[in-house]
This record gives sequence, structure tokens and C-alpha cells, in this order.
Amino acid sequence: MILSDEDLQNDINIFLQGLGDNITAEKLRDYLNLPQVREQHGINHRLSLATAQNYLDRLGYRFAQPLKGQFVDGHERNDVVDHRQNRFLPEMLSYQPRMRVYDKDGNLISEPEGRPVVVWWHDESIFFANDRRRKRWIHKDATPKPYKKGDGPSLMYANFVSADYGWLRAPDGRSPEILLKPGKTRDGYMTNEEILEQFKHASALLKELYPNEDHVLVYDNATTHTKRPDDALSARHTPKNTPKEGKNWLVEVSARDANGKVIPGQKIKGPMRDGYHNGQPQSLYFPPEHPRAGVFKGMVTILEERGITFSTKKLAECKNFKCNPPKTDCCYRRVLFNQPDFAGVESNLETLGKSLGIPVLFLPKYHCELNFIEQCWGYAKRLYRLNPESSREDVLERNTMDAINAVPLVAMRRFANRSLRIMDAYRNGLDGKQAAWAAKKYRGHRILPPEWREDLRKANL
Ligand SMILES: [Zn+2]
Repeated sequence: MILSDEDLQNDINIFLQGLGDNITAEKLRDYLNLPQVREQHGINHRLSLATAQNYLDRLGYRFAQPLKGQFVDGHERNDVVDHRQNRFLPEMLSYQPRMRVYDKDGNLISEPEGRPVVVWWHDESIFFANDRRRKRWIHKDATPKPYKKGDGPSLMYANFVSADYGWLRAPDGRSPEILLKPGKTRDGYMTNEEILEQFKHASALLKELYPNEDHVLVYDNATTHTKRPDDALSARHTPKNTPKEGKNWLVEVSARDANGKVIPGQKIKGPMRDGYHNGQPQSLYFPPEHPRAGVFKGMVTILEERGITFSTKKLAECKNFKCNPPKTDCCYRRVLFNQPDFAGVESNLETLGKSLGIPVLFLPKYHCELNFIEQCWGYAKRLYRLNPESSREDVLERNTMDAINAVPLVAMRRFANRSLRIMDAYRNGLDGKQAAWAAKKYRGHRILPPEWREDLRKANL
């Protein structure tokens, strides 16, 4: 069952979150059958509707009214919590002294000294032509109007939003926003290349519009955002020993034309790039003068060259690479995995961000509640659903843009404060359920008031 693949599970969760109240097994099936998604996750056959239903079931979705404050599996998993507590939250906290502070009515109450930091939150959301409230107040004498079957055409909108300026757009309308038509025959989801292009566009516009401020761009943890170079160091599949005579171990990389430009969709086998140890590059392949020139050395030799040897026999990896922390020398794969050059591989997006002077921050997996853009989508979609139904694509596009542009800045600032409040709750050691409780109870606050411990004890969560 491919659902055991963590990256795939994560991407499915992000896709489903993007659908909001409009999750169906058909949409999940169509998403999983997109060529780009199949390539990304190595799915080599078309998936059926039954499989999609099965996945929904296993991911904890039930065909019923959604319950508030529910969290998908994985929200409190050790590695996810570690990312949240030890990377995401500290980095956000480091920006906070230079972020502007707004009260619950959206008024600026403190301007930081020196260069302000503006945090921009990225996301993609889908608007469906036939997305309408299924229940509404109807006069008892009115003739019920039948609803159109299915969701009709759809549009994906992607942009950045900040509490300071709202959607990222110049007064003359220039914006890195993207409006795409996804669907069975139209692959409308963004690729990593498109994400990088959008980042460049955003970076140029930010430097032009707000040259006296620093900017941070936050993305969710989807693999299209976190993608690393094809030949990047990775210990996930490296063999323990040198491959047998006549064999080699290589990775899949994008084919390039004579000018070095990537040929889309065409993969070839190539070597993994050099490692880095004690300030020196280390090739993972034997040198030209070696009898096995160009052949992968294997984890034992790679570590040996770094002065790491073991007195007892060790496995290549613990079963399914599920090692027992805090042990770090349990298997060859774990040891190599933790080497600084292997552990510190950057995503393409982070590398681009560094080169352009705009840091990139990834949300912990399963934590869309930290991205206040989610509430902006919710606001826009409530307005969007008030429009009369139409399957015309120009109407769909106009209604979508009107709804997005109608989210007031004061509401965005309130949403942003709510996310800050949830971050503060996590910093205080609350879990997802408790943080959701605190976000609701202390409406209007950016941080939890002193009485929260007592209140939480009484709430008995
Ligand atoms: Zn291990």
C-alpha cells in the first residue's frame, strides 16, 4: 500500500485541507492520478475510486458533518512536534520583536524600532464553480431550486498574505498571484519550478514596494515546496557496501539539453553530489585511478573515510528506518543520515531565498492552523458562495477574484493575531487540542493571559 509513504500522506493531507468543506473521494482520486503527482510519488498505475475512499478512511476522514477542532493523525508525532517547537517557533519568535503589532480592531499599536520584518504567508486554494451552501434559509412557499450535480470547473488561486499589507499586490495590480485551472485534463497544480518562479516574482516586487523592510516567506510542508536538488545528499537509499562488480548505485536526475536547461519530465541516472567533511569535499564515488572508478563507495567506506568505524557488526538500517531515539549509532543509515552535510541539505526554495536575501520558513507538517491565510480562504469562500451558480469560467474567475479581494485587512489582522496566539500556546507546551481551545477562549489576545494555567486545569482537556 503506497499510503505508508510519508511524503505522499503529507501531500494528500495538504491537498484535502485545501478543499476545505468540499472533500470527495473523486477529487482525491483525480488528484492522485495527475501525471505530476504520480511522477513525484512513483505511482505507476491509475488509482480507483475505491482506493481513494480507502485512503480517506485511513487518514481519519469520515463521511459526516465535520467536527470543529479535529486534528489529523501526525499532528503530535515526535518529529513533527520537534520541528514545531525547536525550529519553526524559535525562528518566528526571533522575528517577533521587529514585527508590527495590531490590536483586535486592526489598529497599529506598536511600530518596531529599526527595520521592520514583514512575514508573508503562502498558500494555494481551490474555488469550485458549483460550491454552494447545501442548506440555507428558504421560505416555506418557495420552490426549491435543484442544485447542479458535481463541483463543475474550478480555479486554483495562489498568493502571499501579510498582516501589514494584505495580499501581495502592487497598487498597479502587479502581483505574484497565480490563477490556474486544475482538473482531470488540465494539470493545474504548481510544480516546484513554478513555486521558484513565483518566489522570484514576489522577491522582486517586495524589494520594489517595501525596500525599507525585511521580508520572510512562509510555506507549508508540501513536497512541491520542500523539493531538494535531484542529486542532493540523502542517506535514505544508499547501499551499505560497494555494489558488486559490474553494478553501480546512482540517483534519478532531470535530463538536461545542450544548454544545461532541464528537459521537463525526462529523467536519467546520475551520481549523487559530493559530500563535505572537515572543510573538504568528499566524493561518494571511487576516483579515476581506483579499480572501481566511478562506482558508489557504500556507507561503510564513506563513513570510514570520515574516521567513523564500529567495533561490532551493524545493520545497514533498522527495520523500515524506524530507529529508536535517542540512539544515533544503531545502524549505518542513521549515522550517515545525521552527518552534518547530509542533515543540512537545503530545499531549492531555501537556497533561492538565501541568494535573494529573503528567508524561507516551512510550517511543521499538519499545522495549517498556524497559517492565517487559511482563515482568509474561509472568509473569501463564504462570500463566494453567496453568488448565483454559474458554470461559465469567466464568471468563476470574476467571482473568485472578487471574493479574494473582499477580505478586509482588519479581518486579516485578527486572523494573524489568532495564529500568533496559537504559536504562544505551543510555546507554553499546549498540544493541538489545547491550543485550539486557548485560541478560542482568549480571542483578541496575541499571547495567553496569566490565568491560562488555571483555566486549562478547569477545562480538563
Ligand atoms: Zn537505526
